[in-house]
Parts: sequence; C-alpha cells; structure tokens
Amino acid sequence: MATLKSCSALVTGANRGLGLEIVKQLLEGHCFKIFAGCRDPDGPNSESLRELANKHPSIVTLVRIDVADPRSIKESAEKVSSLLGNSGLNLLVNNAAVLPQKSMLTATVKDMQDTFNTNVIGPMLVIREYLPYLRAAAKASAKAGLSCDKAAIVNISTDSASMSIVPTMQAPFPLFPYSISKAGLNMLTVCSAMELKEDEILCVSIHPGWVKTDMGGDKAPLTSRESVEGILRVMSGLTDKQNGGFMDYTGKIMPW
Ligand code: NDP
Repeated sequence: MATLKSCSALVTGANRGLGLEIVKQLLEGHCFKIFAGCRDPDGPNSESLRELANKHPSIVTLVRIDVADPRSIKESAEKVSSLLGNSGLNLLVNNAAVLPQKSMLTATVKDMQDTFNTNVIGPMLVIREYLPYLRAAAKASAKAGLSCDKAAIVNISTDSASMSIVPTMQAPFPLFPYSISKAGLNMLTVCSAMELKEDEILCVSIHPGWVKTDMGGDKAPLTSRESVEGILRVMSGLTDKQNGGFMDYTGKIMPW
C-alpha cells in the first residue's frame, strides 16, 4: 500500500473534529509543512490545535481562515504564500463545514445562505485563492500523472449529499440545507476536476463515514482516528482514474 507523502498541506476547520485529526495524522510523516486553518486561532475551541502547533513549530502553522469570509480567505493565502517555498502547496483539504438541523419546512433563507457560504462558496474561494500554489506544486513535481503527493484538492463531503442515498433516509429530513450544500460541493469537485486537469491538479470528494465528532455525535460508530486513517489511505492511492470522483473513507465509490 502506498503511503501519502505530500510535502505541504492546508486543512480548513483544523481546530477540532476531523480537521484536527487530519492535521495530527499528516504529522505522522506525511507532510513537512502543514497550514492548519481555523477561524479563531486564539479562541478556546483551538486549544488542542495550538498545543499541537507548539509541539511541532517547524511543521504546523496556524492560519486564520473563516471560510465564510472571502477577505479572510484572501488574507490567509497571502500569509501562506509568504511561508511556502517555490515548491508550492501539494494538498488542500476543504474540511470546514456547518450543519444546521433544519428540514425543508423549517430552513430559513438565512440558514440556506449561511450554509452555502461555508460549505460551497467557501471551498470554491479557497480553491481559487490557493490555485497559484497548487499549480506551482504540480509544476515543481517530477511525478507523472495526478496524485495527492503532487497537487490535489480533497473536498470532505458526506453520504447525505447523495441523490440516491438521501431518499432511503428518514423523513422529515433534518439535514436539508446541509445536504443541498454538500451536493453543491460535489458538483464543485466535478467542475474543478475538469477545469484543473490540465494544470495536473487532482480533485475528489470523500465521505468520511459517520464519525464521533461534535457534528457526528456520540452514536457514530467510527472514531476520528479510524476515519482519517481511511481517508489518508484512500488519498495515497488516488490517480487520474479517480479524478472528479466521490468515494468514502474505505475507497468505496459513492453514488452521486
Ligand atoms: P465538527 O462540527 O466537529 O467541526 C467542524 C469544523 O468546521 C470546526 O473546526 C469548525 O470550526 C469548522 N468551521 C465551521 N464553519 C467554519 C468557517 N466559517 N470557517 C472556518 N471553519 C469553520 O465537524 P466534523 O469534524 O465532524 O466534520 C468535518 C467534515 O466532515 C465536514 O465537512 C463534515 O460535513 C464532514 N462529515 C462529517 C461526518 C461526521 O459523521 N462527523 C459525516 C459526513 C461528513 P469552529 O470550531 O470555529 O466552529
């Protein structure tokens, strides 16, 4: 089994849940420069991430990114670019997301707008702002074909974005804004993969499984550790063949 060997990575929503675990596991020999994005690096929700960064100051850099705020995304890219060398950014993980518990009848216009801002428009703007550095990484790499070691965008998606899985779930469906936004994120994956193929940047959506985090809750069967081990294993094996695809943390192809 191949091991992921990206030189540099940016993870959004890295202060807790799956984002924090992704940073922890990238630290285990997969990356030597990790930009851990979070919206409040000095706040109480970022304490574990600050501890991690203090333990590994030459590898982990905390970067303020509120993905719902275009200016903050731009400023973060300026900061990261000043710290990246000519070898660019190998890996971008769009992980940050929100899940308001609303149904079709209870979701307000603001719920929909806020969810789209964070879950779809945010990742789109992060991709755009970081594109020069992903392109630089692809150019600097001597590897043939697409891979996460070279230049890649991983959008963390969900099974509740799937048009064929959602009808099998309970009604009234409580994840209305979330599911619609994540279906939009999946289309962002497809369109980005098409558009960025000639830049040799890979783009996929990955469903992490149902995981014990603040979002997933206590009843979830998977720990963050198990889910992220799977995600990194899947990422290590991605090639041109999976570009623009949707799979879960075990590598199983997900139905759109
Ligand atoms: P959590 O709710 O535990 O964590 C969400 C993270 O996103 C936090 O770090 C939060 O930061 C961050 N975030 C939210 N809004 C913003 C914003 N505007 N700017 C920057 N960061 C933001 O979720 P999980 O760790 O469980 O989820 C991670 C990803 O996995 C998400 O994309 C989610 O949709 C997906 N997923 C999770 C599943 C699960 O079972 N847990 C199942 C399927 C998919 P802050 O602390 O500032 O709020």
